[in-house]
Amino acid sequence: MWDVEAFTKAAAVTVSELAAYVEESQRGQVPVVRQRPPAEIAGRLRLAELIREGGLSTETYQDFLHAFLSEGTRLHHPAYLAHQVASPDFPAALADFIHGATNNPMAIYEMGAAAATVEFEVIRWMLEKAGFPRGAGVLTHGGSLANLTALLAARAHAAPEAWANGTPDDLVILAPPSAHYSVSRAASIMGLGQKAVVELPTDELGRLAVTRFPEISGKRPIALVASACATGTGLHDDLRAVGQWCRDRDIWFHVDGAHGASALLSPAHRHLLDGVELADSLIWDAHKMLRTSSLAAAVLVRREGALDAAFQQDASYIFYGDQGFDLIGRTVECTKAELGLKIFLNLAWRGERGLGDFVAGRYAAAHRFWELARRRPGFALPYEPESNIVCFRYGTADPAGIRERMMADGTFYLTSTILNGVRHLRVTVMNPATDDSHLERLLDEITRLAPAQHEG
Ligand SMILES: *Cc1c(COP(=O)(O)O)cnc(C)c1O
Repeated sequence: MWDVEAFTKAAAVTVSELAAYVEESQRGQVPVVRQRPPAEIAGRLRLAELIREGGLSTETYQDFLHAFLSEGTRLHHPAYLAHQVASPDFPAALADFIHGATNNPMAIYEMGAAAATVEFEVIRWMLEKAGFPRGAGVLTHGGSLANLTALLAARAHAAPEAWANGTPDDLVILAPPSAHYSVSRAASIMGLGQKAVVELPTDELGRLAVTRFPEISGKRPIALVASACATGTGLHDDLRAVGQWCRDRDIWFHVDGAHGASALLSPAHRHLLDGVELADSLIWDAHKMLRTSSLAAAVLVRREGALDAAFQQDASYIFYGDQGFDLIGRTVECTKAELGLKIFLNLAWRGERGLGDFVAGRYAAAHRFWELARRRPGFALPYEPESNIVCFRYGTADPAGIRERMMADGTFYLTSTILNGVRHLRVTVMNPATDDSHLERLLDEITRLAPAQHEG
């Protein structure tokens, strides 16, 4: 049984430690990232001893948590400009806490009617934003699983026999090389193999070049995958043109909106997804731009039955008769977390407007970074950003070397990516605390470090 008094005390400690951690991170006066070797961290946190002996108390827990937080990566830090992982907002954090305590897993309605209903309403809202008024959807643990789920629905549409007989040899997936790697993984997971991924032509920045698409003959396309936006560049495919090409040939149109679908909430950026309503399926990660913790993603389909066709199963302890309000038939997972609550609480607190303003603000900050960098000599920026992702180079400096130096110093945390065969630095503005002063300081820091970082 829970000692409710001990819980209340430990929860209060957790809140005060987290509040101090977030405040310190937001002010940016601590390293954004630390990567001590595991042995050192294990020693400092006394992990082996605690695993063996147990015995953590409210007091020792506070010490542990303090040290644990200080050894981690700070996503609330204005110099966090790395992976497309949300700087989480606190309503969503509360949802994670509530889930941890209540554990009403979302597979069958009877295991959590309130949490399931919240998921239904969040999905209904997302469908409306996507322009799928008669669609259906489900939340999954992340975009990779969401892409797989959408492509399974597409396979069931193209080859309903595949579930029983295995995947026929003539099925293919059409996708650009810039598609997220989870798409080509899904091909192999589904038994198609990499040979079944037909690479579509693109422009030099990886965007689908619809006028150069080949006609497909002798093969059955399961789906064509477009990006909104592409992971590497943050650039968008022309969904209307690609969607029309698919319509004309009766090919399932899948839009990977893991990162960029949240732009549907910003009136100034919604046009980037113009044509999304032509899609047969869309995925949308909330743990990127809707500020929930990892993970919470949606799979949305335009026609209601399309998702239920993706899976068939026989498990008499859980599947019998009419499944009513159960979502289990639509997911790879059996048990899953109360994902809807995280998205719902951010919406309930900030409103659709508030989240839309957040997206618009971060997209504007990335655009601002592009403007500031362009004004300085030596910076090369291959395209004008459309989202909050910007790729760039500085002179002949080695992007990987610069990145490693800044991470070792804890001054900035960026990523890098290969664009048109050349490695570039890559900034993703995820954090509401990042402003012009941080972006200028980043440019100063790169200029300072570059002379020592010769390519080669
Ligand atoms: C991040 C991303 C994914 C993968 O999502 P996860 O939630 O990390 O599994 C898929 N597609 C695109 C375009 C992405 O940016």
